[in-house]
Amino acid sequence: MAVIRNVEQDEHIEQLWYMKEQGETSLDFLKKAMKRDFDARIIEELFLRGLVERSAGVATIKLTADGEARARQLIRAHRLAERLIVDVLGGADVEEIACEFEHTVSLELVNGICTLLGHPKECPHGMPIPEGECCRQATKSALSFIIPLSDIKLGESARIAYINCKNDQQIHKLEGLCIRPGVVVKLHQNYPTYVIECEGASIALDQEVVSHISVWKNFKGAEGTDEPKAADHKNKAGGLKRFFKAFFKSPSIK
Ligand SMILES: [Zn+2]
Ligand SMILES: [Zn+2]
Repeated sequence: MAVIRNVEQDEHIEQLWYMKEQGETSLDFLKKAMKRDFDARIIEELFLRGLVERSAGVATIKLTADGEARARQLIRAHRLAERLIVDVLGGADVEEIACEFEHTVSLELVNGICTLLGHPKECPHGMPIPEGECCRQATKSALSFIIPLSDIKLGESARIAYINCKNDQQIHKLEGLCIRPGVVVKLHQNYPTYVIECEGASIALDQEVVSHISVWKNFKGAEGTDEPKAADHKNKAGGLKRFFKAFFKSPSIK
């Protein structure tokens, strides 16, 4: 199990990944971004370990290929943890838990969580989650709790888990239609356009919009009615919550 240990080094590596996402390589930028957490000795350690490369003359710094591999693991764990906390656990202390999570979690567990969550592509802030082995091998898995809306059968209901969408206009449109995480939708038609029922209204959506919506799998309505059973969602989330908590030793995680 590849457990990540050196928290200070990891924090610097992560910040360098954020800089890479912004196209930044200036050492000054890193110092400003990290404020008091910046530590020149850590940079030295990372350099000696071959995780960063720098140029003294113009004071730039960036991750080497090894450094990037390490950063990818950390960022992936962090953003998947956010997804899990926000969508599944309904928690508020996203940053605190996600930060702790990324340093304590094994690669295998990260892949397991990714699979359960249906291999999400973005964190709740819309930042990309780096792909893992699990995402490349199997886009769909019997283990997933969460699946694309387009995968449910006609006539089936499902509760929305999350919406991965960068386009503000689309998000506003969906919000205007009351299509948001937590609500139950029913799939009426999937060709030539999608028609779903949401809070009593029939709504036509094109495939592109539908592709951003993920739902809880095997959502069962109450017997003989289309009314969703709240307990079903709760049980599932509860199971996942216990699963998740079992991997934490820290008493600070509630
Ligand atoms: Zn995020
Ligand atoms: Zn995955």
